[in-house]
Amino acid sequence: MEEKGTISIHTENIFPIIKKFLYSDHEIFLRELVSNAVDATQKAKSLSSISELKGDLGELKVTVKVDKEKKQIIISDNGIGMTAEEIKKYINQIAFSGATEFVERYKDSNADKSQIIGQFGLGFYSAFMVASTVEIDTLSHADGAEPAHWTCDGSTEFTITTGSRTERGTDVILNIAEDSEEFLEEARLQTILNKYCKFLPIPVEFNGEVINNPNPLWTKSPAELTDEDYKNFYKELYPFSEDPLFWIHLNVDYPFNLTGILYFPKVKNEFDFQKNKIQLYSRQVFITDEVKDVVPEFLMLLHGVLDSPDIPLNVSRSFLQADANVKKINTYITRKVADKLNEIYKKDRTAYEEKWNDIAVFVKYGMLSDDKFYEKAKDFALLQNTEGKYHTLEEYRALVQANQTDKDGNLVILYTTDPEKQHAFIETAQNRNYDVVKLDTMIDPHFIGQLEQKLEKTTLKRVDADTIDKLIQTDAKPESVLSEEETTRLKELFEKAIANQNMTVGVEALSVDDQPVIITLPEFMRRMKDMNRMGGGGMMMMGNMPDMYNVTINANHPINHRILKHNDERGEKIAKQAYDLALLSQNMLSGAALTAFVKRSVELIDKE
Ligand code: ADP
Repeated sequence: MEEKGTISIHTENIFPIIKKFLYSDHEIFLRELVSNAVDATQKAKSLSSISELKGDLGELKVTVKVDKEKKQIIISDNGIGMTAEEIKKYINQIAFSGATEFVERYKDSNADKSQIIGQFGLGFYSAFMVASTVEIDTLSHADGAEPAHWTCDGSTEFTITTGSRTERGTDVILNIAEDSEEFLEEARLQTILNKYCKFLPIPVEFNGEVINNPNPLWTKSPAELTDEDYKNFYKELYPFSEDPLFWIHLNVDYPFNLTGILYFPKVKNEFDFQKNKIQLYSRQVFITDEVKDVVPEFLMLLHGVLDSPDIPLNVSRSFLQADANVKKINTYITRKVADKLNEIYKKDRTAYEEKWNDIAVFVKYGMLSDDKFYEKAKDFALLQNTEGKYHTLEEYRALVQANQTDKDGNLVILYTTDPEKQHAFIETAQNRNYDVVKLDTMIDPHFIGQLEQKLEKTTLKRVDADTIDKLIQTDAKPESVLSEEETTRLKELFEKAIANQNMTVGVEALSVDDQPVIITLPEFMRRMKDMNRMGGGGMMMMGNMPDMYNVTINANHPINHRILKHNDERGEKIAKQAYDLALLSQNMLSGAALTAFVKRSVELIDKE
């Protein structure tokens, strides 16, 4: 038998368009052809299971071979095969018309082309991106079928002859084009197979070795898996990573189909976060690692795999965002993550607390970006205080309710962004039995804002935002021992000694045990500056504005009484010294001012 024919399609010369169009994605030809081969074996299996397959099913597998001499890549399977009629129908008509449709619909669009291909039956046609001619050598499973051989150079002309294959299945032979000889390199093929075919459901052999894991963990039932299994699979996905903190095995089949495993990675610091570490599969065929839109933004920091045949890959990004299934998947994943965290929190609070610092950024990011997640997470989000104890938001409010309120009756949560630098202030707060929480990560300025919005009658104040008795209203506030005249004189003396208009001097009655001079930066000022630094809108003028500090002179401190007594140059010198000490305790003294301070200190010691 020999038959020559013309494939009837409406557009002439679609091929050059496709080739150019998909230029950067030529490598996906291998994914398409290997997936077709896998599909053919799966069909054989289905037929066999209903006793519709003649002869033995045999051991199903797909083999990829390279023949460098002949410049061929051969993809073989022992699937259902095709008759000559089927080739004409499925390859000549469907595959080719799929390609035509593809070009017509997408030549002017910016859609992600590589994701569209499979959906249009361009799958097979993609062989022509790398091959000058393609041959199919096949024997159908059907009773009395004759082997068939098909050749085509990608144009609309094809030839079908009787083939020589004696066993059920198909060889697709690619005669690699001159400009695609890179694909004859074994290392290159290995890389491509690794990327797309690593978890295909039947063995794929290359160079005599099976390159895939046909039963990846996510396809198994969670009940039969151990922690070790999950950790090992994580290593398989990310060979050089530390063990993950924990994981979530997803498994839904209604109203959409989704399986997968999401891992919470262990990250050493906040700059370590890598997005695009989640791989998206469709029936175990790798599609992409850009899961934006499918996974909520705040969970992009997770690692792992998602597998869903229900995620439409044939549409543009904006369409994907609006897709009902994608939205449902998004909501589902968010809920699952929240439930899992809640479960760990409930089951073993100590273990959860140990992990808190590693997961805090996910949780906070989630609370900030998704209201539904906030509602769940507010029960298991923790605040850690400077003594290392953890409380939930409600527990913490209950803890400080009795003695931490401001003059308007709001509950005050004191926080530190740097326990080392703000040590003096933390100590002062602790001396009054107040509690201080640590909010020292990059996301915390936003988180603080959110807590103030969400928690009723609660404000958060950085521990060095003002003197402690101004931050928190107390009945035990000491009286000033100074007269009005002395107070004014002390203020003027310090103003003269400091001589800096960015420093607003005030005298306040504090405890004798507090520092003689305290420098604070008001909360609103710091927040404005923070916002400005983080690119918050509309605050441009803050960038050039110097910090306006408050300098509080402790009316009850003996040093300040001595300063008043020496109402002369000596008094001014001590005032300067006390002020410099306050600066020093906050790491704000440097350069010439630091040198002057050291000199003055030496003189003062000398006089002792
Ligand atoms: P799709 O796989 O999306 O249907 P393709 O262009 O990749 O589109 O393939 C067209 C059709 O050709 C397939 O649906 C299948 O019927 C047939 N086919 C392709 N490859 C094989 C193969 N290795 N064995 C049997 N049939 C095949």
